[in-house]
Amino acid sequence: MYLENLTLKGFRNFSELQIDFDPNVNIFIGQNAQGKTNLLEAIYFLALTKSHRTNNDKELIKFGSKFAGLQGRLHKSQVEVELRLRLTTKGKKAWVNRLEQKKLSGYVGQMNAVLFSPEDLALVKGAPAVRRHFMNLEFGQINPEYLYFSSQYRQILQQKNNYLKQLSAGKAKDKLFLDVLSDQLAGVAAEIIYRRIKYVSLLNKYAQQAHQQISGKKEELLVQYRPSVPDIEDDNSVETIYQKVLSNFQKNKNMEIRKGTTLSGPHRDDLEFFIDKRNAHDYASQGQQRTIALSMKLAEISVVHELTNEYPILLLDDVMSELDHTRQSSLLSYIHGKTQTFITTTDLEGISWEIVKAPRVFQISNGIVTKEE
Ligand code: ATP
Ligand code: MG
Repeated sequence: MYLENLTLKGFRNFSELQIDFDPNVNIFIGQNAQGKTNLLEAIYFLALTKSHRTNNDKELIKFGSKFAGLQGRLHKSQVEVELRLRLTTKGKKAWVNRLEQKKLSGYVGQMNAVLFSPEDLALVKGAPAVRRHFMNLEFGQINPEYLYFSSQYRQILQQKNNYLKQLSAGKAKDKLFLDVLSDQLAGVAAEIIYRRIKYVSLLNKYAQQAHQQISGKKEELLVQYRPSVPDIEDDNSVETIYQKVLSNFQKNKNMEIRKGTTLSGPHRDDLEFFIDKRNAHDYASQGQQRTIALSMKLAEISVVHELTNEYPILLLDDVMSELDHTRQSSLLSYIHGKTQTFITTTDLEGISWEIVKAPRVFQISNGIVTKEE
């Protein structure tokens, strides 16, 4: 798929913007704080209706503006789709081909985007929340059900935690109501865990391939999902997972009441990376962490392709200069000719552009984008 154009109104530091893109490679050059990340964020937001760097949509509306508008024309192998989003302080609205989508799940999934920024280099060493965020964004955009269950889970979890706090403070006594909430939560948790197992195993397959290519077959990568509920196996059914989550909730009931919070479930799960069977979190060097992060991003591209038959759009924010020559050319040759790519950089030095043929180059300055002739 590729994005033909983008129109922004009042998004971050863009007052009004209209750009036509190259179907292959687009490069944005600009000094710091000119709007490079904002532009990639806009494209990412158009795809997922979520920002990669904030959960607070209000931040996206230009200072002093009442709303932000985003619009773009997307080409897929069979169809063309007009996507439109409008954001106010009260919420967001979404249109596909001028038809308003009352539920965002009717919108998300039309356009897929994979974003790679220097922060992704924290995937291996960062806190578990970084890896859960990665799973949720990635799996949410390829499976609307995953998105639906995630938001259900968040709601019920909050309800259960509130009730646990009341019990722990002695303000509530009815433990049967806690059981009802735990049962509901286990049902939704099982749907999420079941899907995570499937997607992580797909990611693992492609990440291993990409990793072999980049490391020159010297090392072997293994990516594993680590649920916080014990004894969950890769081939468990949703029903079996549900039983295991529920019995774990029951086993820890008194402890959860004491602590006033839910101690296991998808919100406590993690991803683990192993290089030659050693846990990368503890042992990987800087370079190895970079290779893993890059392999995971390339794997995302392949997973989206396997599941949707379309290559996602690739957004590379300031990441080329973070990679050495070998990794840069692995990256560029992996995506070459397959994915429409948007690259930002402060300058063109130090980047091996040989593989990128005839990119469209733009300058970005203070929220104004101009095409280089
Ligand atoms: P760097 O090279 O440092 O990463 P950048 O070009 O990626 O820079 P952006 O992150 O895109 O910079 O930010 C550009 C500017 O947008 C910043 O000065 C920031 O203060 C401004 N900005 C952020 N949010 C808003 C907003 N809601 N309204 C107006 N301006 C904003
Ligand atoms: Mg930036």
